[in-house]
Amino acid sequence: MSRGISLAPCGLVIERVESEADKLVLVARPMSKTAVCPTCGGVSTHVHSQYQRALSDLPSQGRLVRIKLCTRRFRCAVTECHQKIFTERLEATTSRPFARRTRRLEGIVHHVGLALGGRPGQSIARCLLLPVSKDTLLRVVRRNAPRPDLAPRVVGIDDWAWKRGHRYGTIICDLEKRRIIDILPDREAATVTAWLAEHPTISVIARDRGAGYIRAAGEGHPEAVQVADRWHLMENVSAAFLSAVQRSMRAIRTAVGAGVVDPTLLSCAERRQHVGWLRRQEENAAILALASQGIAIKEIVRTDPTPSRRSTLAI
Ligand SMILES: [Zn+2]
Repeated sequence: MSRGISLAPCGLVIERVESEADKLVLVARPMSKTAVCPTCGGVSTHVHSQYQRALSDLPSQGRLVRIKLCTRRFRCAVTECHQKIFTERLEATTSRPFARRTRRLEGIVHHVGLALGGRPGQSIARCLLLPVSKDTLLRVVRRNAPRPDLAPRVVGIDDWAWKRGHRYGTIICDLEKRRIIDILPDREAATVTAWLAEHPTISVIARDRGAGYIRAAGEGHPEAVQVADRWHLMENVSAAFLSAVQRSMRAIRTAVGAGVVDPTLLSCAERRQHVGWLRRQEENAAILALASQGIAIKEIVRTDPTPSRRSTLAI
């Protein structure tokens, strides 16, 4: 396929070129026969499986260009490595891992975003046959912005589910940069204390109101200001409010005169609920009337006017 080689981004071999109405499709594969495990750095030649990955590339001849890339999964040959299977990575100059654009297209998108911003950049990008939205333009600019690697000052600490309901760790975020800093293997106070002790620049710790993280923050950084984070405060307030309302529902209904319900104002689901509630009220009244006449419970059950509902009744 020498005809197509010049079209290929670095490190790819083009198998064939398919021409569609408004775009060219390059069917390609990586040039390398081996892949490097991203976890241990071991080189592997054992292909496990493959799948097709789609990449957008620079336009050509007035048409969009899509690359259908045959991507392989490899088995890691290093016995001690916990990453048994991994997906091969392209060269850094070709594409980022899991990206949907080639690096050279992303470079153009970045420059358009820098020069024009979101919405104006989107209009120009459309004219240049660059398949990106205004949000993507801004995202690419942000992603490529230099990040000063300052030590964290304000952090948030919370539970992190490795497997929900089974295994939990601790997630620590830099609240100023809005980035995850670290994920600890468990949520033990001692682990969090040790982590905080290694980061003396922290001055504010946002955490939930559980005793574990309060103790960890106090021991790891006694001088830091501890604050209950907004999400947990709102969650606790919401739960407390609902609980208080539910406890006082009878009094509230009486106070607002909501004992009388207009069925025409209810939705279908609310109407069904209301009809069920009326039926239960009627059954309870009938049972209480029989009980007041001195009739035994067993006898009431036998003479209940709505036997199908007998199991749900309560005196
Ligand atoms: Zn490995």
